[in-house]
Amino acid sequence: MLAGVLIAESLRVGAQLTGVPLQIIELARVEMTSTGVDQPRYWTPLYFTAAESEASRPAAELATCLAPTGGWYTDFHTATDTFVVFADKVSATHGVRPKTAPRKGKAVMSNEHASCVFCGEFVLHIPGWASSVPSYRLMRATWQEDHAFVVGSLHFSCLRASPARSEFAAEFAQIATGHGREITYQAAGETQTLIQPGLGYVEQIFRGDECAIHRSDTRDSWLVREYAGPWYVLDRPQLEDIARGKRPRLDPGVERIVLPREPMADLADATLPELLDSLGVTDRYPGLAAGEPEYEFWKYFAPKRVLEYAVIATPPLPAEAAAFLRDYAPGYRPIDFDALERDDPRS
Ligand SMILES: [Zn+2]
Repeated sequence: MLAGVLIAESLRVGAQLTGVPLQIIELARVEMTSTGVDQPRYWTPLYFTAAESEASRPAAELATCLAPTGGWYTDFHTATDTFVVFADKVSATHGVRPKTAPRKGKAVMSNEHASCVFCGEFVLHIPGWASSVPSYRLMRATWQEDHAFVVGSLHFSCLRASPARSEFAAEFAQIATGHGREITYQAAGETQTLIQPGLGYVEQIFRGDECAIHRSDTRDSWLVREYAGPWYVLDRPQLEDIARGKRPRLDPGVERIVLPREPMADLADATLPELLDSLGVTDRYPGLAAGEPEYEFWKYFAPKRVLEYAVIATPPLPAEAAAFLRDYAPGYRPIDFDALERDDPRS
């Protein structure tokens, strides 16, 4: 099977993708806080799969469908090859993905690879303990010789334990605290220029020994990032919790994942510790109990081993960040979105 993501807005007007049986497995709508010239603010990623034998065919078809302006590209991968598709151009790279995402026969999650990019084990997304790097983030493994793209999920504990933790955090910080930067990418002997979308956390409001806190300049959103470890995004509800003297709770909503194998028999009644235990990854979530996670089983679709669940948890913020935010939160002034709309030429 091949899997990839296509941004609907990257299609040129009049484009028609016919004759390639793509299965859309997830459709999302995301706000990009900073985008390249000729790119809209809202993107619609279409996560798709297709039969692997047809890898070169969708690549060629997609190349004819992408808009020639705007720096658009799409990418998909098979077990061994990564295809990066530009307008009227395809570059195939053999064997890139396994370097960044070790495969151990684990399942592919509905929207990203479910194997940890560091340890290769299954990643259950729990806010504050795991996350993912989507392919359109264009994050590069600067600690590897070929600067391959990092795509997939990760346990935060594995990031903390990795020899590459500082480089990973530095590269993430470049993306998170900027408004997009141009990067060049060598593929099949050619240099491609791409726009790495920034997350727009440009205003640093705290710098401690272990972590920094940045505020978005377009949304009521804050990023706590460790210099050699993971990151946590806090939005207005979390700041309001802190302002009221409560611990912030992260509620990312319902997650869909494909389990790596047949699950435990009583999955619908399992607790979170029982689920993690049955998946064999309990030790990847150290200190999880302190986050008082509330786990809720939603649905299990056995034929495709798709589990839908939700977890709400308190993120394990560094003590210095928590202390700063306790002082900061009561006095924060929400962003005036009406004023932003008036000033924003994109809206
Ligand atoms: Zn891991």
